[in-house]
Amino acid sequence: MTDFQYDLFVIGAGSGGVRAARMAAAFGARVAIAEERYLGGTCVNVGCVPKKLFSYAAHYHQDFSDARGFGWQTEGPSFDWTTLRDNKNTEIERLNGIYGRLLDNAGAELIEGHASFVDANTVAVNGVEYRAKNILIAVGGWPVMPDIPGAEHAISSNEIFYLEQLPRRAVVVGGGYIACEFASILNGLGVETTQLYRRDLFLRGFDVEVREVLAEEMRKAGVDIRFRENISRIEKLDDGSLRLDLVSGEVMDTDLVLCATGRKPLLEGLGLDKLPVDITAGGYIHTNEYFETPVPGIYALGDASGGLELTPVATAEGTALANNLFNGQHRKVDYRDVPTAIFSHPNVATVGYSEEEARKQFGDISVYTSSFRHLKHTLSGNSAKTFLKLIVDKASDRVVGLHMVGDEAGEIVQGMAVAIKAGATKADFDATIGIHPTAAEEFVTMREAVR
Ligand code: NDP
Repeated sequence: MTDFQYDLFVIGAGSGGVRAARMAAAFGARVAIAEERYLGGTCVNVGCVPKKLFSYAAHYHQDFSDARGFGWQTEGPSFDWTTLRDNKNTEIERLNGIYGRLLDNAGAELIEGHASFVDANTVAVNGVEYRAKNILIAVGGWPVMPDIPGAEHAISSNEIFYLEQLPRRAVVVGGGYIACEFASILNGLGVETTQLYRRDLFLRGFDVEVREVLAEEMRKAGVDIRFRENISRIEKLDDGSLRLDLVSGEVMDTDLVLCATGRKPLLEGLGLDKLPVDITAGGYIHTNEYFETPVPGIYALGDASGGLELTPVATAEGTALANNLFNGQHRKVDYRDVPTAIFSHPNVATVGYSEEEARKQFGDISVYTSSFRHLKHTLSGNSAKTFLKLIVDKASDRVVGLHMVGDEAGEIVQGMAVAIKAGATKADFDATIGIHPTAAEEFVTMREAVR
């Protein structure tokens, strides 16, 4: 026991790892955290934060055109990618600094370099061995590229944030969060954008009606969405552009291919082969509900162990683990009713069950929907529709699913999620007075079930 230098050694300074390290140190534990790349992990550097900044940038395009109906003359605004990219880089560097200071102020020691296991209580970084009573694997994930000829000419979400210049044309492959968000961002920034998804309808697992509405709205906004389509081969032409063979037989020329075809844990070189940890078929570290691997003292959480791969989930897990190890608690994370948003244009946000899942889970449900033109768009001339949906379990009257496609859906559904988490019934929604005129008031004024 006494030969341990640390009570907790964290591998990976992303959302989950930093939270666990800071809290453990605040509880008095001796903590080190190893990071080989950047502080703050995917979210801060090549994920949520820069993506949202790009999403704001892309929104201005529509905003300039919407403004005309309100009397603003905004002819000919032009966009400079370098300004956006460089201002974003400055902000990310500022956040990296904040993460460093947070760790420092908490008393957690930052060790820069690649960590790998020597044994169950020893980790080596840059040839130096560190002994710790507990070791947390919080290494996060990394993009997976499709196995097709010419895949080396495509980029992943890691590179899109640092492009030298914005392409004239782009093809986004995939139908998950990242693909929908970047198809919208690129389109909004003025890039001729095509999104290819291999099945019938993107965002598999989300409410079908929500997915249909989003596809329609993204198409209206200008994204060329093609379902049941994929790239089978990429060839780089002499002029630097890319020629794509599509599975349908079509040949398409473009300037950039972004593959947003999923992510997997970054376990290479960790030395996990030396330990009897379980790796799932998807490449995740298997743990129990307390983030424990079968090896006593070794834990994993966040994207490394899978489940809901969302920053707030990873930080909740880091909080729970630090409390369990150093604050005498025995907490699990409650994964029910985790709200989530896709920052596509329009935004999608959701909490609770999809209609399809709710039907399976509860049997008898009522579905309420509302589709309308936002008051703002009566003058802007923009044909975008806002779509809201409530799913109610008839037996209990509880609202078990709430979905929105429209402006600021993430902001609105975050508040609604508190009501859903607290078990609000449809009667509670009906008894709530709306804030007029807002889009969100429709959530409390839907009276007639559509199904
Ligand atoms: P997802 O797993 O969500 O989506 C991957 C997509 O790529 C799916 O549509 C999948 O299709 C498709 N795909 C997989 N392999 C291939 C292939 N070989 N050829 C063509 N298409 C393929 O991954 P993302 O990378 O979008 O995001 C990873 C995770 O990060 C998300 O699940 C989410 O948890 C998180 N995230 C959250 C965000 C947020 O909160 N706003 C934003 C971004 C990411 P199929 O459906 O057929 O499997």
